[in-house]
Amino acid sequence: MALAFIGFGGNIGDTRQVITDAIVCLALRRELQILAKSCFYQSAPVDAPGGDYINAVVQIETELSPYGLLNVCQNIEQAFGRERPYENAPRTLDLDILSFEGVSQNDTELTLPHPRILERSFVLLPLLEIAPDFFLPSIGKLKAYLPQVANQRIEKLPCRNCNCQENKTYSQSSH
Ligand code: AMP
Repeated sequence: MALAFIGFGGNIGDTRQVITDAIVCLALRRELQILAKSCFYQSAPVDAPGGDYINAVVQIETELSPYGLLNVCQNIEQAFGRERPYENAPRTLDLDILSFEGVSQNDTELTLPHPRILERSFVLLPLLEIAPDFFLPSIGKLKAYLPQVANQRIEKLPCRNCNCQENKTYSQSSH
């Protein structure tokens, strides 16, 4: 079994509902278990047109290979009507494998850890919410990279099923 983190995002339609449903789809797969789910975050698009994104991250444990997991993620994207008319186009649902335990590789189909994991507040903040001490051997503690994304607009949305503070704009100093 390997631990992995998956990032969810989208900016077309009721993305919060879409991500909720996509996580249910993921949870129905026998080859994996969901261990933790972050709250939802609303973030400004980075280098892309369209409206704000909704993002979340889940931690899973899986017996799948990295490519098996990529296949599951892409099937879920398709099921929710993901189209790719051009690079960085607005999207109903995007799933990215952020890290897969023990795997470091760089090929066109699957790069692990995800190459932009350190550059995006919408990845770092939800990931660190569920794994505050997350560490990658090649990178070190992810927490150390928060100052680099401090200029990217992001807000933690009210969360229905956890004890974190509701209606609060995310402040890095609170985590
Ligand atoms: P996107 O347009 O963001 O959905 O990118 C999808 C493409 O990125 C697919 O062709 C994947 O094969 C590739 N890719 C490379 N690394 C990853 C990763 N860690 N997670 C998800 N997709 C990846």
